[in-house]
Amino acid sequence: KPTLDTAWAVQWLRLAAKVIAENRMALIELDRVIGDGDHGENMDRGFSAVLTKLDAEPPATPGAAFKLVAMTLMSKVGGAAGPLYGTAFLRAASAVGDAAELDSNTLAAALAAARDGVVARGKASVGEKTMIDAWTPAVDAASAAAASGATPAALLAAAATAAEAGSVSTDPLIARKGRASYLGERAIGHRDPGSVSSALILRAAAQAAGE
Ligand code: ADP
Ligand code: MG
Ligand code: MG
Repeated sequence: KPTLDTAWAVQWLRLAAKVIAENRMALIELDRVIGDGDHGENMDRGFSAVLTKLDAEPPATPGAAFKLVAMTLMSKVGGAAGPLYGTAFLRAASAVGDAAELDSNTLAAALAAARDGVVARGKASVGEKTMIDAWTPAVDAASAAAASGATPAALLAAAATAAEAGSVSTDPLIARKGRASYLGERAIGHRDPGSVSSALILRAAAQAAGE
C-alpha cells in the first residue's frame, strides 16, 4: 500500500502497548543496572493509559492518535522518558497535520520531527548512550527508504532494523546524558533502556503496517 491510515496508527499503538507490557521486566532490569530501575514501569503505565484513551476517544486521524499518545505519556510517564517521548509524538503529530493518509515522505518527515523533538528537549547527540542512538539511525534509514521509493511498510521495517542496531551500539558506550551518565565507565557493557523501548515501538509500527 502507498499510504498508511488511522487504522494503522491505532494498530501501531495497540501493538506498542502490548510489546512494552511484554518487555516491562526486561526494561526494568536494564534500567536497574545503569539507572533507577523504573523505565519498564514508566513506559508500561504510559502505554496502558494510551490503550484506555484509544477506547474512550477513538482518534479520527493519525495525527490525532499521535497527539493522544503525546498528552498521555507527558502526564503519566514522568522521569526523563515521559517528556522526551511526549515531545516526539507531539512533533510527529504536527508533522502529519490532519492528513487521513500518510505516504512514505510524510512518514520519514514525521520520524525526523519526532527525533528532532527529543534532541530539542534532551540535547543528546549520537554516541551519548541514549534513545537518540536508536532514533537517529532510524530516521536516516527512513529518509533513505523514502528517497528510493519504498512503501511505508518497508520504510518502517528499515527504520526499526536501524533502531535495533542503534540500540545494540549503545552497549560499549559511556553515557553522557541522563542518570546513566553518573556511572561513568561502569555503564560500559550495558544497553541503554530508552534505546531498547524506542526500537520496540518502531518495530511495532512496522508490524502494524504488515512488515
Ligand atoms: P529516568 O532516567 O528519569 O528514570 P527513564 O528510566 O524512564 O527515566 O528513562 C531513561 C531513558 O531516557 C534512558 O535510557 C535514555 O534512553 C533516555 N534519556 C535520558 N536522558 C536523555 C536525554 N537527555 N536525551 C535523550 N534521551 C535521554
Ligand atoms: Mg529510570
Ligand atoms: Mg526515574
